[in-house]
Amino acid sequence: MSGNAVDITHVSKRFGNNEVLTDISFDVREGEVVCLLGPSGSGKSTLLRCINQLEVVTTGDVLVFGKRVGYEEVAPGTLRVTSPERLAESRREIGMVFQRFNLFPHMTALENVMEAPVQVRRMPKVEAAEAARAQLKRVGLSDRAEFYPSQLSGGQQQRVAIARALAMQPRIMLFDEPTSALDPELVGEVLSVIKQLAAEGMTMLVVTHQVQFALDVADRVVFMDGGVIVEEGPPVRVVEHAQSERARKFFSELR
Ligand code: ADP
Ligand code: MG
Repeated sequence: MSGNAVDITHVSKRFGNNEVLTDISFDVREGEVVCLLGPSGSGKSTLLRCINQLEVVTTGDVLVFGKRVGYEEVAPGTLRVTSPERLAESRREIGMVFQRFNLFPHMTALENVMEAPVQVRRMPKVEAAEAARAQLKRVGLSDRAEFYPSQLSGGQQQRVAIARALAMQPRIMLFDEPTSALDPELVGEVLSVIKQLAAEGMTMLVVTHQVQFALDVADRVVFMDGGVIVEEGPPVRVVEHAQSERARKFFSELR
């Protein structure tokens, strides 16, 4: 076993005749922070969705913590679509945060964070509330536990969404442009929460357009374009000394 959080080998994904991922291979090691950058439409969200099994790959292998997802080998050489139990087990290891926070509007911040542990994990409510308060504290929102989403800023709502993902105690966090829907003045508070998670040793794959964040926090930067990984490596090398014309152009326009 590799000891990797995510292992992707030769993954392709087609929607009808449209191939949006072509022969992608990469991994995320445990404890590593990888930032994934690339132009709109390059396949970043689709790749994240394949890891979290919101999409099934067309060809190739996706392993999460050493176990195949999407398909599983039931006998040597015989594959079958992952069972719902195995799927649920693998999803529990993954926390996902989207561009849109999608909090339940009729629930307080605390109730939003408690929801999955109570409903999915069957955690007793008192225990779940205590755990949820700890997660809200972690994202700096102890004083907003009883607020409804509509009473919170976009940045605060996104931090609740992060706390909600953390409440399931994932082994890896996937972020899909977590600050893209925010007013510029609210971006920093969300990025600093993610930075703090990195400092705590959380394994993370972050799709972002925040180049400075990638330079500050990533162990590795992956640059995708047109459904392929064009370059990957240490942040400074990829961002400031890109080998390919495509990456050079992309990063020069972002900065
Ligand atoms: P990115 O996140 O890098 O902007 P996406 O992964 O969202 O890119 O999209 C990559 C390509 O896949 C786009 O051309 C998009 O239109 C297409 N695509 C994504 N999801 C679907 C889908 N469910 N059905 C058909 N095409 C899709
Ligand atoms: Mg996207």
